[in-house]
Amino acid sequence: MVAAFAAIAPATEPAPLPVKAAQESIVIPPDALVAPPGAYVHEARFERGETLGDLLDKLGVEDSQASRLVKLGTLHFLRPGTVVTARVAAAGELVHMSYLNGYDTVRSIFPDEDRFRVGDEPASFETSTLVKSAEIRSSLFGAADAAGIPDSVAIQLADVFGGEIDFYRDLRKGDRFSVVYEMQYLGGRPVRSGRVVAAEFVNKGKTFRAIYYVDANGKGGYYEPDGQSLRKAFLRAPLEFSRISSRFGMRKDPYLHSWRKHTGVDYAAPLGTRVRATADGVVEFAGRKGGYGNAIILRNSGRYSTVYGHLRGFAHGIHRGARVEQGEIIGFVGQTGWATGPHLHYEFRIAGVARNPLAVALPAAVPVPARELPAFQHYAQPLVAQLDLLAASTVALLE
Ligand SMILES: [Zn+2]
Repeated sequence: MVAAFAAIAPATEPAPLPVKAAQESIVIPPDALVAPPGAYVHEARFERGETLGDLLDKLGVEDSQASRLVKLGTLHFLRPGTVVTARVAAAGELVHMSYLNGYDTVRSIFPDEDRFRVGDEPASFETSTLVKSAEIRSSLFGAADAAGIPDSVAIQLADVFGGEIDFYRDLRKGDRFSVVYEMQYLGGRPVRSGRVVAAEFVNKGKTFRAIYYVDANGKGGYYEPDGQSLRKAFLRAPLEFSRISSRFGMRKDPYLHSWRKHTGVDYAAPLGTRVRATADGVVEFAGRKGGYGNAIILRNSGRYSTVYGHLRGFAHGIHRGARVEQGEIIGFVGQTGWATGPHLHYEFRIAGVARNPLAVALPAAVPVPARELPAFQHYAQPLVAQLDLLAASTVALLE
């Protein structure tokens, strides 16, 4: 195994070390790859809120070497959620550690005399498809956790069905979902979840299904099993879905209205939660507007417009005349104007009159082209069969 390596000295060493060439081709010493007698292989996940010291402690690296490793600096870019593998000698001396760095490289760190060597190699993944089902008891993420489904898959589900379901307000205890998704493995260990390939979501007794399909022009999208597009002109929810903000959405009465005549939907959410455009449009107004506080008015297609109020601030580039796309971040939740707590006031207007978006039939994006339908159906059929099987087994489980 040969890779380009850089010799990096810990950031603060008492005596200056001789500086070697920044890049050199070296062969990783075999000891670094084969654990010496008495050595252990430890694996630990770098959790949010943990220090690097905590992580190295979990990996069994002895203190003095751990503090030198922290000073090395390279670990400061470690993302929470990353799984780190370390070979550690019986006395706690690090032999070799590695983790997935960035999208597709494996970073190795190992001691070499009085310094550490750091290097990256391309990762070679194996991909397999996983199938999971879950029932919602408290939240989408709670259900995903219980079923061992990664966050990124839960967030994809909220995106895929975002034109049909408002994941902040519509989820109910007893809702359930099945999902077929890709998982990438490195050395037999799951390292990253990939795309949702097919999914079913049962919300308040109504079943939605999605199949990911790449059309003849190479454009991918989610479609219903009959070929209708799942992408709608408007997203149901104007907030970016995340683990933190989702906790607010499950509250029964998220916010008490203080307006005499309330004309929109209120989303209680932590300050700074990202607000997204529910549809393509042009910014008609972005600024201070009475009780709305900092507000954005988007002119969408036809006679539709949308209003986003009480914002803490606007996203970069949001000003009168700017074009935005569906899902684009336009601002951040605040409590400006007549608001007693942080929340987003969202209005959906037709010809200037506030309306309930749920009560209005909205146009969907283009379906699978007729000439491609046979190919689509041929592709979708085994996925639909898999969803049928999952639905049947979930029902059996519940009865
Ligand atoms: Zn409101």
